Amino acid sequence: MNILDNIRIVLVEPIHGGNIGSVCRAMNNNDLTDLAIVNPRPTTDWDDARKLACNAKEQLDARKEYATLAEAVAGCTVVAGTSARTGFYRDTAHPPREFAPIALESATNHKIALVFGREDKGLFNEELALCTHILQIPSSERYTSLNLSHAVMVCGYELFTAAGIFQASEEKADEADSALRERMFSTWREMMIETEFTHDQKLEHMMMGLRRIFSRGKLTVPDCKILMGLAKQSLWVSSQWKKAQNHE
Ligand code: SAH
Repeated sequence: MNILDNIRIVLVEPIHGGNIGSVCRAMNNNDLTDLAIVNPRPTTDWDDARKLACNAKEQLDARKEYATLAEAVAGCTVVAGTSARTGFYRDTAHPPREFAPIALESATNHKIALVFGREDKGLFNEELALCTHILQIPSSERYTSLNLSHAVMVCGYELFTAAGIFQASEEKADEADSALRERMFSTWREMMIETEFTHDQKLEHMMMGLRRIFSRGKLTVPDCKILMGLAKQSLWVSSQWKKAQNHE
């Protein structure tokens, strides 16, 4: 079982079906599967929810519904409430990045919950009182409140990346060694002379500049071959051009 299956996303009295659907989509992007809705509203547009869920209709259909937050989190050890506001005991809020390892440690063996509030009124103090942790997503002072599904996305992303499931693609090409790099630099040196790119006095200075530019990132064997090919082609074009000049 995936550790992220132990993380329950709890929405308290969400208003807009579209937001619920978008939450499902964000959950799907981050391998989260357990959605709970507290006191669903009779006015919610579930067609909108389905539309915005896109490929995450499974999460939407598998949602659990509870009458109260206490019931939705009853089986959870860590219960993290999210809030854009300060005050109450929100002042001890963690950013989601700092919270992710704490969450994953508990989620290894237990169910945990992340609780999100109403679009208009957030979470009430008595709901925050049920929480063991408060999370605040860092945001601009100009407007601290995120859209409900965006808040789920940010928290979900931090949990997903901290879980280390995703393997970033790695450079497969071998790194160039000094001998190959020096062959490449000497071709460039020759090319700079032949194309009269620089005067003799400035040549070594230019070469140091090139060395600095090319060592800002790792040079691979194919990188060196491309750079060498470019210099060799320039040398060839320059020799052709010189030949043509001599025949004129
Ligand atoms: N007007 C409400 C904001 C609700 S936004 C209020 O003042 O609380 C809907 C929900 O998204 C919030 O209850 C919270 O769960 C989450 N959310 C929005 N912005 C957030 C932020 N900056 N940090 C943490 N959670 C946030």
